[in-house]
Amino acid sequence: MSKAATTEPSKFRQTLEDANLQLAVYTATGRLMEKRREAVAADVLPEYQELRTQAHEIKKHTLDNLDYYLELFEEHVTAHGGKVVYCKDGSEVADFVLRLAKERGARLIVKSKSMTTEEIDLNERLAHHQLESVETDLGEYILQLAHQRPYHIVAPALHLTRYDVANIFTEKLGVENETVIEKQTMIARGVLRQKFLQADIGISGANFLVADSGAVVIVENEGNARLTTSAPRIHIAVAGMEKMIARAQDLPVFLKLLGRSATGQPLTVYTSFLSGPRREGEVDGPEEFYVVLLDNGRTRLLADREKRQSLYCIRCGACLNHCPVYRKVGGHNYPWVYSGPIGAVITPQYMGVGKDPWLPFASSLCGACYEVCPVKINIPKLLLDLRSEVTKFKAKERGGWAERMVFRLWAWVMRHPRIYEMMGSMAAAFFPEGEKPGWLRSVPSFMNIGPLKGWLSQRDLPRPASKSFRQHWRSRRKGGR
Ligand code: SF4
Repeated sequence: MSKAATTEPSKFRQTLEDANLQLAVYTATGRLMEKRREAVAADVLPEYQELRTQAHEIKKHTLDNLDYYLELFEEHVTAHGGKVVYCKDGSEVADFVLRLAKERGARLIVKSKSMTTEEIDLNERLAHHQLESVETDLGEYILQLAHQRPYHIVAPALHLTRYDVANIFTEKLGVENETVIEKQTMIARGVLRQKFLQADIGISGANFLVADSGAVVIVENEGNARLTTSAPRIHIAVAGMEKMIARAQDLPVFLKLLGRSATGQPLTVYTSFLSGPRREGEVDGPEEFYVVLLDNGRTRLLADREKRQSLYCIRCGACLNHCPVYRKVGGHNYPWVYSGPIGAVITPQYMGVGKDPWLPFASSLCGACYEVCPVKINIPKLLLDLRSEVTKFKAKERGGWAERMVFRLWAWVMRHPRIYEMMGSMAAAFFPEGEKPGWLRSVPSFMNIGPLKGWLSQRDLPRPASKSFRQHWRSRRKGGR
């Protein structure tokens, strides 16, 4: 498991007060929202809702039978001359890559964008052993130079302006300060082309693993993944095992949804199918082909039938773009590489609910994430479940004595009607009528503590009735009112 850093409250404040950052994030996510909305509109894609249901069902079926499909996938990869490697965590992935690099005398790795390798800090682990790995997706490359982690799962450098990029390039590459985006791209291209030519190993992620053909499917817009997977003599695809789908014929459902949900494109520019090393007569492709299947906590998530759906995620980023919380606090205030609503759902499951207990509460529960999720993950429901787990965890941590005392006292009072009535009359006397009849806006200072203080700082509370039901009943029977 990779590290997750708890966010300081001052970091949130800094983000909220940074007008340029707020504008950059709001504009970029707003643009992506608009493009998605147009791409899935009923007159453009009338079968959109049907596709979402199908995608959900396909993922459900595959993950409910993952053991079977993993074996099937391995069988096909092996038949094509590749090799499947199962890794429990990031250390095992790094060990495998380091061992292979050592055996083959490899010195340079090129990488295409992969959240899974970000998840396990693969670059840092390799750098620790003096093995250089260079990101080749433009956004990822900029972030690698700036020593930052992705801000967004689809658009990793979404928070940076072209002026920020110009400064990073000048500082790290020693080039003149260049603020024209096309020219910045050419600068990166010039550096990266050389790396592609020199690299011994290419490492990619995978958008989908197809069980019935053994194919690794990668979608991208820049073409760097194609070079990463075909130029070096060794290729390693690192994928979470949840990327599996059962059949090749299911792929169009996901391809139609992924591009549209992510960037509003009907299809991404390149869709690559990798199924083993170069075959006889082929002009390019690697000599060796490995698929590393990463667990890193996924089997733990699989065990929970309800929460298992968080593994259906195809990392389109739509829930981030539509989340009012993500749009304000941005990607770097989330403790792990996965940010936004899906980050708030999977991080506590991978790291434990006690690690960042505020995370499932970082949501307005407006439901936008569920509405736009192409695989229909019920994120609000999962957040509520996790909130309940956090509360139980905290109660357990405190030993639960306070709650137990309160409920024992409550049960005792409920068993003694006269005391219950007496306490009702006392409560009415304690809380006199305020400026809003029937409601409490404040309480006497000695009571304004703990949860009551928290509640009344934001909301009001119904005032205890001045006369109880029993008192009303008695006076009615006596003929009063
Ligand atoms: S949870 Fe759904 S909307 Fe969010 S990134 Fe994953 S697939 Fe996309």
